[in-house]
Amino acid sequence: MPNPLYDTLFAPLASRDSRLLILSDGTEVTGRTFHGLIGRAANALRAAGVGPSDRVAVQIAKSPEALAIYAATVSIGAAFLPLNTAYTPPEVAYFLENATPRLFLCEPAKAASLAGVASRTTLKTLDSEGGGSFGADLSDAATAFTPEPRTPSDLAAILYTSGTTGRSKGAMLTHANLLSNAESLAQLWRFTSDDVLLHALPIFHTHGLFVASNVSLLTGGAMIFLPGFDPDAVLRLLPQATTLMGVPTFYTRLLDDKRFDRALTAHMRLFVSGSAPLLAGTHRQFQHRTGHRILERYGMTETNMNTSNPYDGERRAGTVGFPLPGVELRIRAEGHAVPKGEVGVIEVRGPNVFAGYWQMPEKTREDLREDGWFITGDLGQLDADGYLQIVGRSKDLVISGGFNIYPIEVEMVLDEQPGVLESAVIGLPHPDFGEAVFAVLVAKRGETVDIAAVLEGLQGKLARFKQPKSALVLSELPRNAMGKVQKADLRKTYAGWFNP
Ligand code: AMP
Repeated sequence: MPNPLYDTLFAPLASRDSRLLILSDGTEVTGRTFHGLIGRAANALRAAGVGPSDRVAVQIAKSPEALAIYAATVSIGAAFLPLNTAYTPPEVAYFLENATPRLFLCEPAKAASLAGVASRTTLKTLDSEGGGSFGADLSDAATAFTPEPRTPSDLAAILYTSGTTGRSKGAMLTHANLLSNAESLAQLWRFTSDDVLLHALPIFHTHGLFVASNVSLLTGGAMIFLPGFDPDAVLRLLPQATTLMGVPTFYTRLLDDKRFDRALTAHMRLFVSGSAPLLAGTHRQFQHRTGHRILERYGMTETNMNTSNPYDGERRAGTVGFPLPGVELRIRAEGHAVPKGEVGVIEVRGPNVFAGYWQMPEKTREDLREDGWFITGDLGQLDADGYLQIVGRSKDLVISGGFNIYPIEVEMVLDEQPGVLESAVIGLPHPDFGEAVFAVLVAKRGETVDIAAVLEGLQGKLARFKQPKSALVLSELPRNAMGKVQKADLRKTYAGWFNP
């Protein structure tokens, strides 16, 4: 009985005695052992009551077990719902209410603070060492299992985007979405079973979970599976790798380290960047230091990957290349396609495009046209040779260290702080994070604002990566005639704040 993702990505592991995962302490996990772990996870999930079409939400550390739970969830026909490990209990509450998962897995240390918000689901725990109540279930479970039959259009995962109005939307991704994208990327980027991918990305986001892991699984290669991006570990393990996928922050951090040089990278086949704009300067500095040209690509939660610079041929700095095979792309403004060189909103259509937002038919209708075109909300233009350049984000998204932050969500919490009348949150260029969150505050009449106290007041209410790195008090916000805050002016005025 077919299960597209299981059959293609996971079933072949059962007979594979070569290593699949290499952990930071040097431990190796073979394909066969990992397949056994998928089986244990599948049986433990089923024993916890998870059935076909259920959701499994997880907020757990990156580990082989966590990856196996993703594989097991899709293999038993349920949808995998990973959550950023930085989310606070009030943030997690929203996702659990919206997605109503059958099971929620969290770290043992957070179980007490999450028990309240997870009262309507089964809560189990797992830590990065395989400990916790679900860790015990995994140890006790058998490895043999039968996958659940699924069609290509069945749901495999729900990944939540950041919400423009403080409400995140759950992007429904099907087996066909994930598989088609993995197949395109593997071919385009020439992945083979000889590749060893240095995997230092989180696996709660499309980049680390789908782009990196699925491409590697599909092609039978190995992954150096690190808990996070630690420059020392990356530099130590790079000699064993052939490829690295990262966000721009990885590359700026590596370039900050003198040990990262031509000799250390001479054997590498490919460096890929995405999830946020890679500055053309970083691209050039990287080539100067290592002789390699970073391959930049563009994608998003709802669409997987859309475009990529070429493997052969010019990788053009400041651009994200061409549409992937099978992906159509157009740039429109005021209802019409714009000519090359003009800016408009990027729209994409293809097998990579999601099936809609979970239980939000109206939002789906707003962004996903009936004829299959998805309105990305990104602003872009094509250069004379057809390379796509992303010039801005129509939704005012801030991307800091590869994480998306929607200003409105931060502003809403800032506005509740003592003495604050209103606020404007913007992203400013930052040498390390690409962009850093910056807040402009206005005091209530007759009151003063203590910036340190305001920032302190955000602890526990917003994930740390969303909290402003710095703030400033102004007597009023710049506004246009229609009363709209002129964020572009603020960005321009304070552009050198973190980068003097
Ligand atoms: P996410 O849904 O978290 O993957 O974020 C998707 C957004 O990240 C896109 O809509 C773009 O705004 C941005 N993004 C992704 N890749 C790139 C890139 N290579 N250059 C510029 N922006 C990017």
